[in-house]
Amino acid sequence: MLDCVVVGAGFAGLTAAKELIERGYDVALVEARDRVGGRVMSATLSGGEVIDLGGQWIAPSHDRMLELVKDAGLELIPANPGMLTLVQHGEIRNVAQSDSDDDARTPFAVADLGQGLMRLRRLADRAGQDDVWAEANAAWLDQSIDRWIVSNLRTPTGRRDIRAAMKAVFESALDKISLRQALDKVREGIDMENLIAANGDIGQARVRGGLAQLPERMAAEIGDRLRYRFVVDSIEQDDDHVIVRPTLGEPLEARTVILALPPWLAIRLRATPPLAGWREDAVRKVGAGNVIKCYLVYDRPWWRDKGLSGQMSADEGAVRVTFDCTDSPEGRGVLMGFFEGAEASMLAKFSKSMRERVFKDTLVDVFGPRAAHPLEYTDIDWAAEEFTRGSHGAHFAPGVWSVTGAELGVPCGRIYFAGAEYANKFNGYMEGAVRSAHETVQSVILRVNETAA
Ligand SMILES: Cc1cc2nc3c(=O)[nH]c(=O)nc-3n(C[C@H](O)[C@H](O)[C@H](O)COP(=O)(O)OP(=O)(O)OC[C@H]3O[C@@H](n4cnc5c(N)ncnc54)[C@H](O)[C@@H]3O)c2cc1C
Repeated sequence: MLDCVVVGAGFAGLTAAKELIERGYDVALVEARDRVGGRVMSATLSGGEVIDLGGQWIAPSHDRMLELVKDAGLELIPANPGMLTLVQHGEIRNVAQSDSDDDARTPFAVADLGQGLMRLRRLADRAGQDDVWAEANAAWLDQSIDRWIVSNLRTPTGRRDIRAAMKAVFESALDKISLRQALDKVREGIDMENLIAANGDIGQARVRGGLAQLPERMAAEIGDRLRYRFVVDSIEQDDDHVIVRPTLGEPLEARTVILALPPWLAIRLRATPPLAGWREDAVRKVGAGNVIKCYLVYDRPWWRDKGLSGQMSADEGAVRVTFDCTDSPEGRGVLMGFFEGAEASMLAKFSKSMRERVFKDTLVDVFGPRAAHPLEYTDIDWAAEEFTRGSHGAHFAPGVWSVTGAELGVPCGRIYFAGAEYANKFNGYMEGAVRSAHETVQSVILRVNETAA
């Protein structure tokens, strides 16, 4: 009997399997796809440039990821310096990035801040227009604005900036101000974006040659203990062991199993006995997110001529964030963007050429007419991927994380959980996936040793 079956060869599953094998445990790592990496996937463009279709940026605080990059001897490419382009209320401004580390605003923080401001404005509109909804959510609207910020923004810089703007309005401790009051102010017309200073520094980097090199290297170390096209369908457990059944082929028997899958996929597996009802309830509230990552390629990175970084953050539109992913200043210019949430759901129904047009039109509006002549377009709809079905990751509604979110990682008998959505720190990021796997492995080892004794 195996000590552990690890299900899913994304960063979490690869980390868990590797750590268990290194400590001498008997492990099988099973993966539904015919590749490793999960939400990390690289592709090669017609000009030979390698792009990342999934996870890409590694922040300076992502210690485990940086260690993996260093051990693999891979090179990091910092995000392109230059002016940030902000689109607010239809007005386009190019602002300098500060070179102060204290004032760092990373690509994550820009995206985080953008979506935080957007949510706040939508919420303000709803609370103002829908009395029935406001009445039904009276208790929730009475939480402090500070609590809302913590639940809805992920990055320290994003939270800092939105707090700074709120403080400028209220001149009072934000834990004393209700969300309802803050929404009233937003509706009264305070200009949050203008209150937020726009001088950030970019600390994030991506891997030259594509991030998928990392999971591929980890897979090579795991060797033939990794099985591809092993689609887990059901899990049965009793007091002594677990049986992991694929849709096709022979089942595996082990002392423990780690489900290194996004929670919304983990609850779809048939489990005997069934997983607890609260877990399913919490996962449904968490949601899976929805993103289409898209790229346009130009003959050269012409926006750099104007001193632009290619990094854009907008408060409206189909694409609200863009980044420059050009490999070399002498080579072709590559701009990346995201369709997210409702925009992603809507555009997924249209053709790829329609999405290309929408992205191109956005870039023309923001960066000028030169954007109208791309050479190549590519995109990926992560919600349509059978073994992902959503992304970037979980969006915790206010209150869900504090009530049940943190408990999602609690094992269910011999079934353990790992992955980006279970992480206490860097939740939703690759760093979170690696850290969560490391923590889960400690619990699994205790259990296996106890069973073997
Ligand atoms: C477009 C996009 C951009 C992103 N950008 C960033 C970024 O810049 N920086 C960052 O840190 N993070 C980013 N992320 C998030 C990051 O990619 C994820 O948090 C991380 O890769 C998740 O790793 P994981 O191992 O937890 O899950 P996954 O990578 O989802 O791995 C789960 C694995 O389980 C497999 N699987 C699923 N079902 C089954 C089954 N039934 N049987 C067997 N195997 C199964 C899947 O095929 C997959 O390989 C991004 C994600 C997306 C989609």
